[in-house]
Amino acid sequence: MCSVDGERGNWTSREVFEQIVSLLDRLGEEDLNSVPAESMGDDQIALQRIGNRVQAEGLRRLRRFDGGEGYAPSGALSARAWLRWRLNLTTTAASERVAMSRKLVALPKTEQALADGDISYRHATLIAETASQLGDKFEAHAETILVDVAKEVCPWRLQRAIWHLKHCLDSDGVLSDANKAHGRRFLQLSQTLDGVYRIDGWLDAEGGAVLNSALNSVMGPRLADDDRSATERRADAAVELARRQLDGGQLPEVGGQKPHLAVSVEMATLSKEPGSMAAELEWSQPILAETARRLACDAAITPIIDGEADHTSRVVPGSTRRALIARDKGCRFPGCDCPPAWTDAHHVKHWADGGPTTLDNLILLCRRHHRLVHEEGWTLELAQDRDLVAIPP
Ligand SMILES: [Zn+2]
Ligand SMILES: [Zn+2]
Repeated sequence: MCSVDGERGNWTSREVFEQIVSLLDRLGEEDLNSVPAESMGDDQIALQRIGNRVQAEGLRRLRRFDGGEGYAPSGALSARAWLRWRLNLTTTAASERVAMSRKLVALPKTEQALADGDISYRHATLIAETASQLGDKFEAHAETILVDVAKEVCPWRLQRAIWHLKHCLDSDGVLSDANKAHGRRFLQLSQTLDGVYRIDGWLDAEGGAVLNSALNSVMGPRLADDDRSATERRADAAVELARRQLDGGQLPEVGGQKPHLAVSVEMATLSKEPGSMAAELEWSQPILAETARRLACDAAITPIIDGEADHTSRVVPGSTRRALIARDKGCRFPGCDCPPAWTDAHHVKHWADGGPTTLDNLILLCRRHHRLVHEEGWTLELAQDRDLVAIPP
């Protein structure tokens, strides 16, 4: 009888595969509760190395399969097509694997390091890609350097070493890569039907680093009571970055006006009268009454009340703000140490409810805590020593 994969004879592999499978079965049967948890670390290392060796052996056998057209009897037209069919790989994965098995012929040190378990398949593909990209400029000692680095670091760091190596061996190529990367930059800011914005983009290395350091600086170190995820903190930092630019007044004018955000709101909405209209942010986006109250709280965003821009009444006068900064020294929310520049002046009793814009009715709150107090329903109470106590809703 002849199977589509060709008859399997008594080669070493048949016996070895049976042994490997039965050894894996034995591992799977081990009761891990009776093994010290710390020994699992050594197991992770051992299994990772075995996995690397299995990958190397797989590539070595794939090369023979590919070169000897071992796929032909099954009717497949190429090793790639066979891999897609029998291993359920994607076209990309199948192509990459066949290409790797071929490329490793010219990269004996890489193949050996993978076969020894010292580097992973991902490391090997990075080295192989580099060799293809550099062509004649990729010398034997370059492979030695990269394999030595790959044994010590993760693929991401290896990629950086590769970048440095390319810079030495092929600076023109690096320049053209950088220009291609720059050419792929884009930033999409689109609004969904329910008003939420979605950001999608691609920046070159420099642009990404500039944005990243600005965001990190705005984010600052994470506070103990901050339960936001890293991505939530980054989203808040991006908005804060833009807000500071708008507040700073250094941005160029648009249509003869300094760019700013206006909120249109009826007085009835601000004083939370039942049945009042929603407030609207620029471009007619409805926002919550409570959000409008927060935005109007510091009057940092010009409220358009009942159709008229309100520039005067509730703006915290410079002298009051200076006194407020001297007194509060930053966000007053318990445990927060946000500096004054990142805070709003919050009316403890909102001016729409008749609260005065005077020092004893104002406290500094950072944007996050200001939102917590307005939209998320936290209340702040003054303790006897003038410390604030925050009470969750
Ligand atoms: Zn407020
Ligand atoms: Zn705060």
